[in-house]
Amino acid sequence: MTSQQRHARRPIDQLRASPIAPHLDAFERYLDDRGYAGTTSKNYILCLAHVAQWMNQCQFVIEHLDEGSVAQFLDGHLPRCQCRDPVVRRYGDLRAALGHLLVVLRAEAVIPEQVPEMTPVAEELRHYDAHLNHARGLAPRTRRNRVRTVGRFLSDRFGNGRIDLSMITPEEMREFVVRQSRHYNARSSVAALISTLRSYFRFRTACGDQVQALTGALMAPPIWPQATLPKALSGTEIHRLVASLGGTQPGARRDDAMVRCALDLGLRCGEIARLSLDDIDWCAGTITLRTTKGGREDRLPLPQTTGEAIADYLRFERPPNPSRAVFVRRLAPNDRPLGPDCVRKSIRQAYARAGLPYTGAHLLRHTMAGRLLESGSSLKEVADVLRHRSLNTTLIYAKLDVGSLSAVALPRWGDDDTPQRQSTPQTRGRARCQGTAYPLRAAYLASLHSSHYSDAPVAVRRDLQRDCAVAGS
Ligand SMILES: [Zn+2]
Repeated sequence: MTSQQRHARRPIDQLRASPIAPHLDAFERYLDDRGYAGTTSKNYILCLAHVAQWMNQCQFVIEHLDEGSVAQFLDGHLPRCQCRDPVVRRYGDLRAALGHLLVVLRAEAVIPEQVPEMTPVAEELRHYDAHLNHARGLAPRTRRNRVRTVGRFLSDRFGNGRIDLSMITPEEMREFVVRQSRHYNARSSVAALISTLRSYFRFRTACGDQVQALTGALMAPPIWPQATLPKALSGTEIHRLVASLGGTQPGARRDDAMVRCALDLGLRCGEIARLSLDDIDWCAGTITLRTTKGGREDRLPLPQTTGEAIADYLRFERPPNPSRAVFVRRLAPNDRPLGPDCVRKSIRQAYARAGLPYTGAHLLRHTMAGRLLESGSSLKEVADVLRHRSLNTTLIYAKLDVGSLSAVALPRWGDDDTPQRQSTPQTRGRARCQGTAYPLRAAYLASLHSSHYSDAPVAVRRDLQRDCAVAGS
């Protein structure tokens, strides 16, 4: 120990005399780039000062710092800590600060990258994921869900040991499904669990395993997809929701823009969360969905209300950061895109502010479908705008369109005539609209939205296009 370390009193002095000292500037820069507040950064520096005392006490070499030594500090040293005060002893703060320090040290190549432990289950999941990706062509999110479920099943049965499916009995299989089902409220979730396990056993069959008995033990609960009516907001409720937008709470512009995306364009929460600055063409007034549930790339016209809400958020609220995501976290680290759950939460809070008794974000997508039908669109047109791969998925909305249903219903005894649906200028215009899916969608959406973002002043659109092109670079 040097004389400087022996006489250091203040925590910051101890930190500057520790092996962490050469990396302090990079650590502060890392926090600053991610939008952490000054007080948070200062707190994390004080946390590192405590770690520095510990490192000095046990003459720890910084090149050996990893998740194991972090656990050694948090669970071994911290409960018995007798370091010189003042030191930070808050477990959560210390863990967060050390997590950031590991990221910085790895970025500077001071310590090696973390190598995940390859257990037999992890190895098996890697093969299964490759099969889902290359042989089945499933979307990353679907693959992640399936791999997680199969991982739970294999870890539950084999732990870290060798996998031998011939050891599993059909009874064990059923017990696993019953145990998991207790966590689900919807039948469809149980059906998805069983579908995933069957998919895994098909993969194992292709690999030469005899697992037919296990597949036979998996009986999916019956699902009647057309049994319920899709819930949708009424006209009055839409007005209440729209009137509640424009609040002044933190993150209001971001939440408003996300509600607009769901209500005006029927976007799913995942699609809203994944929107990139490169997906919006402000000059043309279009929005492109690149990683949709159907795995397709879809271009939609940007309605005026949606475009204005997103533009307001980008210009006045979105924190500057390196991310290309449209919607980012409000609090540090704000360079990360939002997850779909955050979009759901924002929509749920918007319902609450409007005094509506709803919680489901998908309700706005149903509402959009209902509004399209009311405006005279056909089921095929609704399927196009909602980007359904199969018309069967859209069929449920037929039950919302009471007007059209009455048009095809048999006349009752005594009725003079069957109500006929009148064509409107919009529907006549659509009939003439030929070409790619984009102009068709533009025409369908025109029946809902009176103005389009391409009608906004050219200078405004050009500025937005320029700002978005350089944002994050
Ligand atoms: Zn200590």
